Amino acid sequence: MAQSRLPPQATCDVAVVGAGIAGLTAAALLARQGLSVELLEGHLQSGGCAGTFRRGAYTFDVGATQVAGLEPGGIHSRLFRHLGLPAPAATPLDPGCVVDLGDGEPPIRLWRDPGRWQQERQQHFPGSDPFWNLCDWLHQASWGFAGRDPVLPPRNLWDLGQLIGSLRPGNLASGLLVGASVADLLQLSGCADNQRLRRFLDLQLRLYSQEPADRTAALYGATVLAMAQEPQGLWHLEGSMQALSSALEQGLTAAGGSLRLRHRVSRLRPEQVSGWNIQGQGPGGRPFQLGCRDLICTAPPQALPALLGEALPAGYQRRLQGFSDPSGALVLYAAVARSALPAGCPAHLQLDGTEPGSLFVSISREGDGRAPAGEATVIASVFTPARPWFDGDEPTYQARKQEALAEIQAGLGQLLGLRPEHYRHSELATPRGFAHWTGRPFGFVGGLGQRPSRFGPFGLASRTPLPGFWLCGDGIHPGEGTAGVSLSALMVCRQLLAGRGLNLALA
Ligand SMILES: Cc1cc2nc3c(=O)[nH]c(=O)nc-3n(C[C@H](O)[C@H](O)[C@H](O)COP(=O)(O)OP(=O)(O)OC[C@H]3O[C@@H](n4cnc5c(N)ncnc54)[C@H](O)[C@@H]3O)c2cc1C
Repeated sequence: MAQSRLPPQATCDVAVVGAGIAGLTAAALLARQGLSVELLEGHLQSGGCAGTFRRGAYTFDVGATQVAGLEPGGIHSRLFRHLGLPAPAATPLDPGCVVDLGDGEPPIRLWRDPGRWQQERQQHFPGSDPFWNLCDWLHQASWGFAGRDPVLPPRNLWDLGQLIGSLRPGNLASGLLVGASVADLLQLSGCADNQRLRRFLDLQLRLYSQEPADRTAALYGATVLAMAQEPQGLWHLEGSMQALSSALEQGLTAAGGSLRLRHRVSRLRPEQVSGWNIQGQGPGGRPFQLGCRDLICTAPPQALPALLGEALPAGYQRRLQGFSDPSGALVLYAAVARSALPAGCPAHLQLDGTEPGSLFVSISREGDGRAPAGEATVIASVFTPARPWFDGDEPTYQARKQEALAEIQAGLGQLLGLRPEHYRHSELATPRGFAHWTGRPFGFVGGLGQRPSRFGPFGLASRTPLPGFWLCGDGIHPGEGTAGVSLSALMVCRQLLAGRGLNLALA
């Protein structure tokens, strides 16, 4: 993979800032269309929040551990088919997750088979069928709509045409609920009094939308609640999460595009006539400049004021300032002997009711490339308010970090019976680490959240008020997750190419 420095006075058709899944997808698609593409990445590897790192014999997935969209017709499958590459090897997750509400009742298993999942939820949430049937109807309508590659929110006539062309009668009916929350669906279906169901929904939705049921858009919530079941389903990548980025890198270079690692962008300036000038630091801190006609930025929207400076229109800046802070993440990366784990331990678990918050836990499988034989990696994450991690002096920060590590280990003790002596490796990442490694201001993760007021037509558009300046990634529709950011990348590529009279259609 190309890691060379940019030549002086370099220019290209399209520059993409950030080689996470969004940037890799956008760059590979545009290079495949014959455009000259430069993908600039500040880190020394691609992947961003879906990357990996090594510690001795162990390989840890930095953030994302489950992948959606690898089923036939799913976004990752469509992309690899279009790029003429095999999708990375993956095994289906069944159950997709095991959810322990911490209430002494048996945990809830998100089975892959829809019939089995229906039986499971009838057992745990008696009388809740009307709610699930309503979700299912919304999901069917939204899923078909998403597969027709709509543009949301529309910002010109072409966008509007794409949006209208993706609508079907079912969307017009489900669209009546565009301003509703998942809690409204509970009311509508007469299930609002089911406290255990509500607790389960709050826990699951916080994982995918950063918000509980009363603040998650109904149309978004209905879809993420169906992600673990066929015909969709969740997948575990063989080797590591990096397999997804590596495959996309391959697609980019095979099509003639370049990935420039260790190229951190510090300034984006519109040129006087047309196009953009990009400035930053390359390997060894040497300054670089790049000229391009179009520029796609995948850094979170909170990074735009610093990157654009006075080029940022005042109204747009106010819009950005109006978004509340997303969460940060605390992530424990640990390794244990497999014998220390309960027999038949599932790959993904969720535990409610612990300090410093509810835990999402991913455990490697024997032979999946992450740990030596007889050992397992255990990754446990929890959301945390990000900014407070940047306050205070170093000793205070280290003390808080130790406290959080001990709390997460206590949660793992409750969930898996792990004791301190079981850990062969253990380290904690805080929002400071995410900010450093992914360039995300304050280590914010997860996009803008999926409140009804920010979802779909009410979200931040990929087409910005600045000509030739585009956005994609987890702050843009349809939101976070590797599948979500790939869809946002496809959307922005279609818009950009349409502006050049070119058409991009995936099978
Ligand atoms: C703890 C955690 C768990 C998660 N679990 C899952 C999961 O199980 N499944 C799932 O699908 N998703 C999961 N996600 C979400 C998923 O990882 C992200 O939504 C997705 O990977 C974001 O991709 P992105 O390309 O938009 O952004 P990023 O991954 O943040 O990539 C942006 C890239 O841009 C680079 N960059 C930023 N600024 C600059 C700059 N100025 N110059 C050059 N480069 C720059 C960064 O280094 C980074 O590589 C999880 C996230 C976290 C944090």
